[in-house]
Amino acid sequence: MLNKRFLCVLLVLIFVVSIPAVGHAREIDEISQAPDLQLIIYGDANGDNKISLEDVIEIQLYKAGLKTITPERAKMADLDLSGDADLSDAVIIQQLCAKLINLYPQFGKYDITLGKGEFYTALMTNANQPYNRKVLYISTNESIAEVDSNGKITAKSIGSTSIIVQNPLGKNTQLNITVKAAPTYIKLNCNNCTLVKGEKLDLESYIDEGSAAYKRDFTTSDKKIATVDKHGTVTAKSEGNAVIRCSIYNGLYAECTVNVTSTSARIRKDLDPTKPMIALTFDDGPNSATTGMILDTLKKYNSRATFFVVGTRVYGENKQVLKRAYDMGCEVGSHSYSHQYFSNITLAEAKKEINKAKEIIKDATGAYPTLFRLPGGISVKSYLPYVGAPIINWSVDTRDWEVLNSSAVYNSVMKDSYDGAVVLMHDIYGTTATAAQNAIASLISRGYQLVTVSELAYYKGYKLESGSIYYHFR
Ligand SMILES: [Zn+2]
Repeated sequence: MLNKRFLCVLLVLIFVVSIPAVGHAREIDEISQAPDLQLIIYGDANGDNKISLEDVIEIQLYKAGLKTITPERAKMADLDLSGDADLSDAVIIQQLCAKLINLYPQFGKYDITLGKGEFYTALMTNANQPYNRKVLYISTNESIAEVDSNGKITAKSIGSTSIIVQNPLGKNTQLNITVKAAPTYIKLNCNNCTLVKGEKLDLESYIDEGSAAYKRDFTTSDKKIATVDKHGTVTAKSEGNAVIRCSIYNGLYAECTVNVTSTSARIRKDLDPTKPMIALTFDDGPNSATTGMILDTLKKYNSRATFFVVGTRVYGENKQVLKRAYDMGCEVGSHSYSHQYFSNITLAEAKKEINKAKEIIKDATGAYPTLFRLPGGISVKSYLPYVGAPIINWSVDTRDWEVLNSSAVYNSVMKDSYDGAVVLMHDIYGTTATAAQNAIASLISRGYQLVTVSELAYYKGYKLESGSIYYHFR
């Protein structure tokens, strides 16, 4: 856009310079000795609220005494008719025009809603920087909201009004104010919650309908345990309890007790760290018959695996088989509530997917899931802090769901697996259950220890972090 403007200015210049006899030749000639910077910057000389070459011409006319300017107009435009600067080309004019546009002071917001009795200081900005020149604030209805000379607004009574500021170009900038009743209560979306170290939680507050409080202040009783930012996003830092308080201008507050835990994955301490290990993982279940077949074989070889389960599948006999897996020492991870790809859903939906699955798993096994696997392995970076568990991808993909052939799946496991591998299968297929039964027996006979993902990480010296993605451990 600037380039376009530059081109226009340049074209006008070329045009006027090359035909000096036409029109305001004399004035236009003077553009090559354009006026001083102050003059241009505050010089919307023709009063059309735009700064253009025309203004420069107009100013030249004033300076040459060919036009008169009213004192009112001079004041509004902050015209300083003294001094000349040697500005010789259109580039400089164009740059000055760009600067000028940035000098419009603006309110940071255009509409705010305050509670009766609340204060708000209207900060002026230009080009997203604080605006430091003195401006005049005027309230159009002082019985609804008052404003002092520093821009501090006080909400006096219920209704709507606006605060007006006149900028140096004589243009008004307006902040609309709605004043509502003062709240009589405030509530948070949770009073008590458990977060895993590293997990984030967004606190939301509610006040009585029809009331308003522009500002919320969030504080923590212990920032070593949990911090909170000005938007109410809590970050779990270390184990323990912290109380997060949300308060508003009239002294009301609500609190949420945050209990920070670290993932309490069960790790067998009697494994042999010198022997190779593999983590078999099964997604999309539980499925009572096929998951049960795999559990039978794991039990026979005193082995463990990890099941990434989908919340909607945890009911009836599937729920029982999941409890059995947990009781056998297998690891239970979440694979979301309904297997939506993160790339297809909003953050709010992703949080629901994560949290619903967590509670369903807790209900089935008695423990929260210790790991998370992304549906489809599809990650959305900004969602990961809300997962609340280490995120486990895989390094060996059997593509069992595609081939649906037990010997092909068995061969893939046997051929591709290695010490430290995380193997992906799906325990909802009979072909996979058969392949897994055979692979478990063969891997054991080759000297592998079949372990959970958390055990593999532990023995390979990894410290799993909530919200981080892992592929394998070696
Ligand atoms: Zn899946």
